[in-house]
Amino acid sequence: MRVGVVGVGGTGSAACRHLARMGHQVVGFEQFHMGHTHGSSHGTSRAIRYAYRDPFYTKWMRESFRLWAELEQDCGEKLYERTGILMMGDGQSEYLSQVAASLDVCDVEYDLLNASTAARRYPAMGFHPEEEVLFQPEGGFLRANHCLHQNIRLAREHGAEIRFNTPVTHIKQQPDDSVLLITPEGDEIFDKVIITAGPWIGIVLRQLNLPLVITRQQVAYLPVAANPQQFLPTQQPVWIDTSSLYYGFPYDGESEGIKIASDIRGDTVDPNFVNPEVDRDYVNKLTEYASVRFPDLSLNMIHSHVCLYTNAPREDFLLDTVPDASSISFVSGCSGHGFKFTILLGWLAAQLATGGEISGDISRFKLNS
Ligand SMILES: Cc1cc2nc3c(=O)[nH]c(=O)nc-3n(C[C@H](O)[C@H](O)[C@H](O)COP(=O)(O)OP(=O)(O)OC[C@H]3O[C@@H](n4cnc5c(N)ncnc54)[C@H](O)[C@@H]3O)c2cc1C
Repeated sequence: MRVGVVGVGGTGSAACRHLARMGHQVVGFEQFHMGHTHGSSHGTSRAIRYAYRDPFYTKWMRESFRLWAELEQDCGEKLYERTGILMMGDGQSEYLSQVAASLDVCDVEYDLLNASTAARRYPAMGFHPEEEVLFQPEGGFLRANHCLHQNIRLAREHGAEIRFNTPVTHIKQQPDDSVLLITPEGDEIFDKVIITAGPWIGIVLRQLNLPLVITRQQVAYLPVAANPQQFLPTQQPVWIDTSSLYYGFPYDGESEGIKIASDIRGDTVDPNFVNPEVDRDYVNKLTEYASVRFPDLSLNMIHSHVCLYTNAPREDFLLDTVPDASSISFVSGCSGHGFKFTILLGWLAAQLATGGEISGDISRFKLNS
C-alpha cells in the first residue's frame, strides 16, 4: 500500500518505520526541519513508566516497552535508561494508593518507602517527614531526540521517503477511497493517510472540531552545585511529586544541568504562535521548589525550553479513522504523557490504517468513546 504520514514527530516517525518495515510504500511529511523544537517531542529525555493510576495504561506499557526494546535492537543504540521511577505524595496519598492498586492488578512489583528510608537511598533529595514514596524499578527515561532520529533513519533504510520542510495543506478522501494530499510541492494520491500532527491536529482536521486543548509547558535545567555523583542515573531515579506536580530527571549526560518541570497545565495557545521564552514567575516558583527538594542544586537556571501538550478529555489518547473518510486515520491527544507510547501509537496507527490485526483494547482511544 502507498501510505502518507502527516507529521514526523514522536508518533509519525514511529509510524513511518513500522509501515516501511511491513513493506508498505511510505512518504512522511514534516512541516519543519529535522530536530525542530516547535512541537511536543524535542529534548533529551521523556519519562517512561509502568506506574500509572489507571491499569489500562499500565497494561499497554508492556507492549510499548517491548516495541522500544525492538527499536533499540534494530538500531543498535541504547535509548532507554532504566533508573526506576520514584513517586512522592503527601501522607495518605490517594494518588499513590491508586498507582499501587493499578500495579497490583497488573502484577508489577514496587516498593513503598517512608521518608527517612527514601532520604537514605536517594541522598540528592530532601523529603518531608510525612511524605509517602513509591518506587517502581522498571522505568526511567527515553532519549527522546535519539528515538526520533533512529525511527527516521530506520524508516528510510526500509525504503520510506521522509520529506522535511513540507507542510501538508489539504487532505481529502476521493470517491474511489484513495486520498488526495496537497503540499506546496503539488498533489499526491495515497491509498491511506495517517495524520500524526500532534498539537496541529485540530488545524489539519479542523472540520472534526476535536476536543483538544493545546497548552504551553515550560522546562528548566538547574546546574549541580555539589555532590554531582548523586545525580547520575545510577543513583538518582526519574521522580514525580504527585502532590505539587513537579517532576524531574537525573543528569542525562547530554543536556547541561538537571531537568525539572511542572506538569500543571500552562496557558492555552495556538501552536503557530507560541512564546518561546520561559516565564520569570514560573522559574521563580520552580527554583523555590528545587531549593527544598534538591539542596545540592544551584538555583541559577542554565537553560530552558517551551514545549506543547495536546490535552484530550480524561487524558486519553485519540486513535481513530475520520468519520465518513475511513482511508484517513489520526492519532493525537498525547496529553503530556504520550512519548513513552509513541512507538505503540505509531504501530497501532499503522495496523489500523492497513487493516492489520490489533490485539488489545483500543476502544478508549476512539473519538466518541
Ligand atoms: C514539556 C513536556 C514534557 C513531557 N514529558 C513527557 C514524559 O516525561 N513522558 C511522556 O511519556 N510524555 C511526555 N510528554 C508528552 C509527549 O512528549 C507527547 O505526548 C508526544 O511527544 C507527542 O508526540 P506527537 O507525535 O503527537 O507530536 P509531535 O512530536 O509534536 O509531532 C507532530 C509533528 O507533526 C508536524 N506537523 C503538524 N502539522 C503538520 C502539517 N500540516 N504538515 C506536516 N507536518 C505537520 C509537526 O511539525 C510535528 O513535528 C511531554 C510533553 C512536553 C511538552
